[in-house]
Amino acid sequence: MAIATINPATGELLKTFEPLNDAEIAHKLDLAQQAFEKYQKISFQERSVWMQKAADILEQEKADFAKIMTLEMGKPFKAAIAEVEKCALVCRYYAEHAAEFLADVTVKTDASHSFVKYQPLGIILAVMPWNFPFWQVFRFVAPALMAGNVGLLKHASNVPQCALAIEEIIQRAGFPTGVFQTLLIGAAKVADLMSDDRVKAATLTGSEPAGASLAAASGKQIKKTVLELGGSDPFIVLESADLEAAVTTATTARMLNNGQSCIAAKRFIVVETIADKFEKLLLEKFQALKVGNPMESETDLGPLATPDILKEIDQQVQAGVKNGAKVLTGGHPLSDRPGNYYPPTILTDISPENPVAQEEFFGPVAMLFRVPDIDAAIKIANSTPFGLGASAWTTNSQERDRLIEEIEAGSVFINGMVKSDPRLPFGGIKRSGYGRELSIQGIHEFVNVKTVWVK
Ligand code: NAP
Repeated sequence: MAIATINPATGELLKTFEPLNDAEIAHKLDLAQQAFEKYQKISFQERSVWMQKAADILEQEKADFAKIMTLEMGKPFKAAIAEVEKCALVCRYYAEHAAEFLADVTVKTDASHSFVKYQPLGIILAVMPWNFPFWQVFRFVAPALMAGNVGLLKHASNVPQCALAIEEIIQRAGFPTGVFQTLLIGAAKVADLMSDDRVKAATLTGSEPAGASLAAASGKQIKKTVLELGGSDPFIVLESADLEAAVTTATTARMLNNGQSCIAAKRFIVVETIADKFEKLLLEKFQALKVGNPMESETDLGPLATPDILKEIDQQVQAGVKNGAKVLTGGHPLSDRPGNYYPPTILTDISPENPVAQEEFFGPVAMLFRVPDIDAAIKIANSTPFGLGASAWTTNSQERDRLIEEIEAGSVFINGMVKSDPRLPFGGIKRSGYGRELSIQGIHEFVNVKTVWVK
């Protein structure tokens, strides 16, 4: 894929970028390694001043950064502003907590003194997607840099200006040259980078094929990876739930980021007794959403990020229909305008044999399933290859405990939508990936957990 900014709202090619050649990549690797040798010795206190400064820059210039995001990948401007604010939050969180998370831990043994010491690994490669082009990067950058690692970013090819803006923020914040660099390169260069001895580990957020490919390249070199991949999160609604709140949250959770979020609720699993009412209310909410120019403040749903994603989502919907699903609303691209617009869509009557029941819809398409009881709800929830997040709605404590216990996912949210929070670990199981980001678990992914034993 060419490295370029193409406005998804208009299809206009705004800027193209020449990928780095091999000599330029080698130079950046040298710079990163030299930077690491000094940076690893810098105190938490000094790193924390720079990280707080990065947060200041993000907050002070949030409208400029949000505009770049909206221009490159089409998310509503107001959501882009919220994303920049959240990046500032994660910078502050690790600026304040890294020293405590990575402090030596004494363990009593037969030694005079034995303890666990956390040390940085070196250069970490981050391969990132376009959907939260700032947040995905900052949730890696903040813990990685606070731990004393240095970062190389291979961002998605359709968000080069976001990638360059992030590099500039880190530099302006005061971090030494080379501590964080953007590499404008295609995906084909990633395996070569992993075979360089100086690159110690990698994190990838993106699709399954990309994750598998990075994991294979890293596996050959015995290097650690963290993978945050796709999801088809269930959203279970049981009889005792607050239906109004559930439907409102269901709409937000499905439409967030124009429907292109890994932790969006994608499969709505509702018990029969309340299913007609849920369906009616959901339909009303979906039809009331304003689809349009993402720069306008009243827009709820902007365009999909690329023409390929639009094509793919439509193909999935048509395949679902061919296999027996019914379209309640939406179901075809909006052809009355330029750009990659797909309307809010609801699919019902999806049999377990319908292949789409197992797939991730990376766009504004909700799948609605009716079930007789909680047993069937949990069975359907667990019936995909994914295991990222799950949202479940009930006021019955026994049902709540079963949902927490039995849902196969990296997170379960009861009576709320799945969201990431710097204070809580984030990640998936099954084909949604492995490893965790955020919280104390996130900063422990890319450190050497060194055992020290002194007699
Ligand atoms: P993608 O095509 O996998 O792209 C993600 C990143 O991987 C991009 O930088 C891409 O570079 C790179 N890439 C692609 N193929 C690669 C390969 N073979 N080797 C190494 N790198 C490769 O994913 P996407 O379509 O942009 O993103 C959508 C997917 O990401 C969805 O499945 C979504 O659920 C998932 N996602 C997961 C999370 C999470 O936290 N779990 C968060 C957001 C998104 P190019 O752009 O140059 O191809």
